[in-house]
Formats: sequence, C-alpha cells, structure tokens
Amino acid sequence: MKLFFFKTLLVSLFLTLFSCENKKSTPVPKPYKAGVVISFDDAYVDEWFEADKVLKKYNWKATFCVCRIDSIGVPQIKKLLELQKEGHEIAGHGYHHYNAVKFVAKNGIDEYIKQEIDPMLLSMKKKGFNVSSFAYPYGERSDELDQALSPIFKVIRGRDFEGLAPEKEGCYFRNSKLMYAFDIDNNHVHFNIPYLLELLDDAKKKNKILILSSHKPVKKLTENYQTKIETLEFICKYMKLNDLKFYKLSDLDSLETVN
Ligand SMILES: [Zn+2]
Repeated sequence: MKLFFFKTLLVSLFLTLFSCENKKSTPVPKPYKAGVVISFDDAYVDEWFEADKVLKKYNWKATFCVCRIDSIGVPQIKKLLELQKEGHEIAGHGYHHYNAVKFVAKNGIDEYIKQEIDPMLLSMKKKGFNVSSFAYPYGERSDELDQALSPIFKVIRGRDFEGLAPEKEGCYFRNSKLMYAFDIDNNHVHFNIPYLLELLDDAKKKNKILILSSHKPVKKLTENYQTKIETLEFICKYMKLNDLKFYKLSDLDSLETVN
C-alpha cells in the first residue's frame, strides 16, 4: 500500500513537472547571420538604378520603398521591374506620401487605408510588383497605425531619430515585424562615418541585423536627403570584408520568433 502511494506520488510529481515545463516554454528567436538591410525611400528611380550599376559588383541587395507609384514614368517603372528581377525588393511607401500620423488624426484610420494603402497596393500589383513591406513616410508612426497595418504587411519600417550608443540603438532587427532604420543621408544630424562604422561593428560582433535607410544616392552632394554613393560603397565593402549578409526588408519576416 505504501509502495503504491509512493508510486502515485512520483507519477503525479512527474506529470506536474512535465506540464509546468510545457507551459514555461517561451518563443525562441531563430539564429541568424549578422547583416544589414539597405533601404531607400521615395521615387529616385534613376539614381537608384545608377547606384545599382556601381554596387552590383558587391552582389548587394537593397529594398526600394516607392511612393506615388502612379506618378512614376514608364521608363522608371521598367527600371524598377529590372531591379526587382535582379533580386532587390520593391516595397510600399504610400500612395500619396502622406504623413500617416497627421492624416489619421484628421481623417481616421479607415480613410488612411482607403486613400493611402489600398490604391498603392492595387496599382503596384498591376504594374508587377510583389509588395510585402512598408516604410512610413517621414518615419512617422503610431501604435494604432502599426496595429492596422500589421495584417497587411509582413514588415513595417519606421525611422530611428535617436543617436544613441549602438547597444541602445533601435535600428537593429528585434525579432518583430515592426522596425526602425538609421538614416544614412548626409544631412541626418546623427549621421557620420565613424558612427556608421560603430553600428556596423556592433552588428558584426553581436550577430545583429542593422537596418539603414536612405533617399537619393549621388556622386556629389547638392541638397538634403542625399547619400553619397561613396557611403554605400563603404558599407558594401565592409560587409564583404566581414562576411555580413545583405538582407531585404521582407527577408526579416521569416526570421521572426518561432514557438
Ligand atoms: Zn519618403
């Protein structure tokens, strides 16, 4: 009788432990290779195409977040399709390039989706683009917007306006579909090559994915929202030298936390 009691106790103890173990299992991030996302916003198609000619030799992969798709000329649409065919990603950046937060405050979220997202997706699909990522114009976002756009896009990118130490920077992939990019345009107040190098080093050392954004790549700076092709080449060279992977925004979707 005593033995039976002892056995029952053991079994129930085992079951309790086992079920606790099950409940405790938390989602674990998938392991991934250190790398960089290089993304571009707006509609500087000719300049993107020229930059691609220079950077092709590094076998780079970029994400071009396009706005005002119906104002883009036929030759530029052809260039975008060619970039997509080469393995770059074409993402959405708004049908009109509205400031999402301001627009929603005035007109509501449903109207935002109706005017800014739905026509963009429809037109881009018609023109042959497979859009699954979105970058907020001006990097302006809110929880309400993130929530409304989450079922529509696999990856949603904003911009990181801080200039913190790399370990505190929000511009790394964090196992979430919502992410922030560090802007490498020359006029960005926190941008400079030594700091960019710190961010890249941190990605390499800690096995992280750095997310960068840019607008118009140029050989010579003439105005704001421009990135020197030299800077892009510096990043590509660093990546080749240190075996960092070129990620597109949509690649991060499959790296999300698994259960
Ligand atoms: Zn923009």
